[in-house]
Amino acid sequence: MTISIDLHAHTLCSDGDLSPAELVLRAKQQNLQVLAVTDHDTTEGIAAASQVAGENQIKLIAGVEISVTWENKTFHIVGLNIDPENKQLANGLASLRVLRDQRAIEIAEKLAKKNVDNALAGTQALVKGSIVSRTHFAQFLVNNGYSKNLQQAFKRYLGDGKPGYAKAHWASLEEAVSWIHDAGGLAVIAHPGRYKIGRARMHALLSHFKECGGDAIEVISGSQRPDVTPHFARLAAEYELFASVGSDFHSPSQRWLELGRLPALPENCKPVWNCW
Ligand code: AMP
Ligand code: MN
Ligand code: MN
Ligand code: MN
Repeated sequence: MTISIDLHAHTLCSDGDLSPAELVLRAKQQNLQVLAVTDHDTTEGIAAASQVAGENQIKLIAGVEISVTWENKTFHIVGLNIDPENKQLANGLASLRVLRDQRAIEIAEKLAKKNVDNALAGTQALVKGSIVSRTHFAQFLVNNGYSKNLQQAFKRYLGDGKPGYAKAHWASLEEAVSWIHDAGGLAVIAHPGRYKIGRARMHALLSHFKECGGDAIEVISGSQRPDVTPHFARLAAEYELFASVGSDFHSPSQRWLELGRLPALPENCKPVWNCW
């Protein structure tokens, strides 16, 4: 039996546009049976989402998407079925939010050099949850006429190597996996198709992830072309990883990407949700 499931989605507690309650109601509209809330570096939205999910017969999986630096590049590790109250996880995420605050100051300084004024206060005014992200800076740039949409703001200012890009040294792969495991969860490599790395580095990443005790990989991700799915299914099999599926939904304004609208996993995959 196939179940309708989405294990990667954001709320306004990080860089999404919907409140936790609104996200869960959208999941209900989309006939989802299982939804994971996976905000960047915070679990703030889990309690509210769980309550509304309970009232609407949706199974809510407590999750998080942890920012990681591996070999000098940023990767995202999703934690699924975590205890949001766990101290080691909570302390780890708090340390990442401090790094985010420091990076925000640097981003604003870099933008000032490109004649973008008031970026720090203007961006902070858009933050509704507990983290400041580049998405908030992008929205500030759009709102103030510097860019015509979020994509252009990343392309011109905020993307890797662009004038407003500030490097941060996030958690290590070991730390992210150990925080997730300490909190009783499973560690998942998020959107593997989005990292601009070659074959050899992808294999090195997966080997290291396995050594750390990593559990799963998103074989299906919202932004992914269907023809690459078999490749990630093969990698999951080769590294004995469970397979996850997640839209990475952020906002109803991203009309091309809907919550829960995902293809089925290839037959040979071991679904991560069979673990709980
Ligand atoms: P941060 O974790 O603060 O560095 O921000 C990364 C977030 O920015 C990602 O989670 C995406 O939601 C968003 N993002 C990254 N690249 C783009 C892009 N090209 N267009 C729109 N949003 C993007
Ligand atoms: Mn995001
Ligand atoms: Mn991500
Ligand atoms: Mn995400």
